[in-house]
Amino acid sequence: MKDFEYQNYIYSRKNEDDRTIINVKGVEIGGDKLTIMAGPCVIDSFEATDKIADKVKNLGASVLRGGAFKPRTSPYSFQGMGTMGLDILSDIGSKHNMPVISEIMSADELDYFVEKIDIIQVGARNMQNFDLLKKLGKTDKPVLLKRGFANTIEEFLLSAEYIMKEGNKNVILCERGIRTYETFTRNTLDISAVPVLKRLTHLPVVVDPSHAAGIHWLVKPLSLAAAAAGADGLIIETHINPRESSCDPEQTLTIESFTSLMNELNPVVKAIGRSI
Ligand code: PEP
Ligand code: MN
Repeated sequence: MKDFEYQNYIYSRKNEDDRTIINVKGVEIGGDKLTIMAGPCVIDSFEATDKIADKVKNLGASVLRGGAFKPRTSPYSFQGMGTMGLDILSDIGSKHNMPVISEIMSADELDYFVEKIDIIQVGARNMQNFDLLKKLGKTDKPVLLKRGFANTIEEFLLSAEYIMKEGNKNVILCERGIRTYETFTRNTLDISAVPVLKRLTHLPVVVDPSHAAGIHWLVKPLSLAAAAAGADGLIIETHINPRESSCDPEQTLTIESFTSLMNELNPVVKAIGRSI
C-alpha cells in the first residue's frame, strides 16, 4: 500500500460503491457500459470525418474523436486544422448525434473548446501543464486526462486533483501507454494501471490502445485486455482509409478491423457483466 492510497484527495474512492458516472449528452462514461470513442487521429476533411462518424456510430461507438490541434514530435509534421477542425468535428457530431472529443494544447483556445467540444482531451504531453489543468478546472466541461508517457500513477492522479480542486469534478482518466525500454511497440500499455486506478479513484478509466500499440494489429488484443481488466471505455483511432490519414496511419484501424474488434469485444464485455 502506498501512502497516497490513504490520503483524502478529491479523486479518492471512499468505498466500493463510490464511482463517478459522467453523462455527456446522454452518453454515460463510468457506468455499466463500456463506452467506445472512435474516429481519426486528426481531422483532415469534412467528407472523410463524416464517413468515419457514420460507420463507427453504426458499429457501436458513442463518442467521436478527432484532433484539430496536434502535438506533433516534429514541427514539420501536419499540425492540424485548428479551430476549423473543431468546427468540422462539432458539425459532424451534431449531424450524427454523437458527443465529440478533441485535444486542447493551450488555454488560449479554451473558450472555443468550451463552445464547440463535449469532452476536452488533455494529451500525454500536457498532463503536467498545471496552468492548463487549473483553467480546465474552472469550467464544468468533461475533461479526458491522458497519462504522461513518463509519469507515475500517483502523478497522474495528482494532475486529476489539480482539475477537481478548482471545482470541475468531470474528469476521465486515460491510460495510453508509457515509455519503457521496449521499442517494438510505440509505448508499453500499463494494463495494471487500470485495476490500480479503479481501486484508488472513483473516476472513470478509459484506455487508448492505439497510441500504446503504434501498430494496427495490436489494437484489438490490447482493447480486449483493457476491457477484461475493467476499463470503462476505449478510445480508438479509426479511419475509412488509414493510409490517407495525415497522422498516425500505421496504428489506425480500418472500418473492417474496427468491425472485427467490436465483434470480439462483445463476448468479453458480456463475460464481465457489462454491455457496449
Ligand atoms: C491523440 O490522442 O491524438 C494523442 C496525441 O494522444 P497522446 O496524447 O496520448 O499521445
Ligand atoms: Mn494519434
